[in-house]
Amino acid sequence: MASDAEALAVALAEARAGRAEGGIPIGAALVVDGTVLAVGRNRRVQDGSPILHGETDCLANAGRLPASVYGRATMVTTLSPCDMCTGAILLYGIPRVVIGENRTFYGGEDLLRSRGVEVVVLDDPACVTLMNDFIAAEPTLWNEDIGEE
Ligand SMILES: [Zn+2]
Repeated sequence: MASDAEALAVALAEARAGRAEGGIPIGAALVVDGTVLAVGRNRRVQDGSPILHGETDCLANAGRLPASVYGRATMVTTLSPCDMCTGAILLYGIPRVVIGENRTFYGGEDLLRSRGVEVVVLDDPACVTLMNDFIAAEPTLWNEDIGEE
C-alpha cells in the first residue's frame, strides 16, 4: 500500500526526471486501491505538448479506465493542479487529490473542494525547492506553461 508520502515520492521522481530531460519539473502518480497505477510528468518541452502536464500525462499513461476505477483513485501531484488538470480531475470524478506544494503556484484547489474533492496539501520542502530552482532558472518557460507572458 502506497502512503500519500510514498506516492508523492514517486511523483517527485517523475518531476526530477523531467527536469533532467530539460523539461518542467512537475510529476504525478495515480493511486488506486493503494497501488500506483500510472505515473506521468510534464512534457511541454520533451514532446512539444501544451496539454501534457504531470497530471494529464499520468491520466494518458493510465489509459482508458472505467468510471468505477477513477471513482476510487487519488491523483498525487507535486504541484497544485492548474485549471486544465483540475478540469480533468473533475471530469473523471477522481475524489481525492494529494498535492506536494502550493507555494509556488496555487491552482484549482478551491474549485476542487467546492465540487466535493478531498484535497490534501503535504507542503513538501523538496517539491518547493525543485519548483523555486526551476522558476529562477527558466522563468520564460514556466510562464509559457501557465499561460502567462
Ligand atoms: Zn496542469
